[in-house]
Amino acid sequence: MDKEEIKKLDKMHIMHSWSVNEGLDPKVITGAEGVYMIDADGKKIMDFSSQLKCVNTGHNVPRIVKAIQEQAEKLCYIGPAFAYEARSKLGQALAGVTPGDLNKFFFTLGGAEANENALKMARAYTKKHKILSYYISYHGATQGAITLTGDPRRPPLEPGIPGVVHILNPYCYRCPFKLTYPSCDLHCADYVEEMIRYEDADTVAGIIMETVIGGSGVIIPPDGYLQRLREICDANNMVFIADEVMAGFGRTGKWFAVENWNVVPDLMTMAKGLTSSHVPMGAVAISDKVADALSKEMLYCGLTYSGHPVSSAAALATIETYKEDKLIENARVLGEIQKAEFEKMKDKHPCVGDARSIGLFGCIELVKNKKTKERLVPYNAMGKAAAITKEINKRMMERGVYAPARWWLMFAAPPLCITEDQLREGLAVTDEVLDWVDTLTEN
Ligand code: PLP
Repeated sequence: MDKEEIKKLDKMHIMHSWSVNEGLDPKVITGAEGVYMIDADGKKIMDFSSQLKCVNTGHNVPRIVKAIQEQAEKLCYIGPAFAYEARSKLGQALAGVTPGDLNKFFFTLGGAEANENALKMARAYTKKHKILSYYISYHGATQGAITLTGDPRRPPLEPGIPGVVHILNPYCYRCPFKLTYPSCDLHCADYVEEMIRYEDADTVAGIIMETVIGGSGVIIPPDGYLQRLREICDANNMVFIADEVMAGFGRTGKWFAVENWNVVPDLMTMAKGLTSSHVPMGAVAISDKVADALSKEMLYCGLTYSGHPVSSAAALATIETYKEDKLIENARVLGEIQKAEFEKMKDKHPCVGDARSIGLFGCIELVKNKKTKERLVPYNAMGKAAAITKEINKRMMERGVYAPARWWLMFAAPPLCITEDQLREGLAVTDEVLDWVDTLTEN
């Protein structure tokens, strides 16, 4: 089918997510391999975003494709009530790479469903109902997950589910308490305790946090914050839910981001990198303590495709790929290069207010003025107000690099299989586009 026909049918029949659909003109992609995607004209585009920061191993990994094919030939589907090799082996493999005593898994189709089920488990385990979550966060588009979400996609979808209380994030570059780390003595963690006091600890089941906040700007918690959250949860009989849907599977240079601070959550949600998005799958990892308690009661969680055999086989092959191709080590090593290049960009460009990076997970905050930190594009800007963001994306694509900016935030989150040369190439394009962005600042 030719490019125009694909576009015509897309326009006629497809509703695209998170978009004003009228007037969309999506690029036609015909293939992908490693760090590249290939458009309908045969042009290779570097995927400097791992799509939705999900294709962590790189595109179309032959080992994963083969595992999918072999499992499909053997057993395409069997109901979740049965036991089967692919899922049993996957449970064992995941227990081997997840931190601490996260040894049991409930499988879903993606990240939102993982968070929905973690929420149910937290409530069932504690017999309490409230959940604390952060204003700067994204937890998925289903009704419960979007209520947990703090970003601007939530308000238009309200009212959501009852019992969710939003709180302020630790966000050192734009500290909501106007303090500076470390002299702040982690006031942002004391504030969580205060919120729990006001909400009444006897009603608060837990707290959910993106360990490193992803789509809203790679916001890395200050050292000590997650450790304090762990203590606060223990002291108040609350469940600590780490949302590692984006930050997990090597993105931050560790298997899971919580390992950067040696913290073991009670529940940890994952998706994206679990299968490197070759097929859909998500999961809730459950600690021994929570799993033991939940095992004695009816588990009110279920999905027709929970632990789908083909997804299980893909996930198993994905974990093998991370290990055999040393992808997590690669993210750690190249992550240091990315961080150093980000530092240079921060020094060089008047438009770069902050440039944060951990592993191969980086974000640049574009500002009009470094002193006032005024965002170059406003929070939640749409249409004409986001014209600069659109132009940045166009300029990146013209130079053969896909790394969609969001409002005033530019990202670098390539597949973990990227080579040093490819990484430097992507960062050089970013640097070149920043030269143009500089002309828009007040400096
Ligand atoms: N949690 C986080 C941190 C995410 O980044 C996302 C998606 O981007 C989700 C949850 C939702 O995952 P899904 O789109 O697979 O439902």
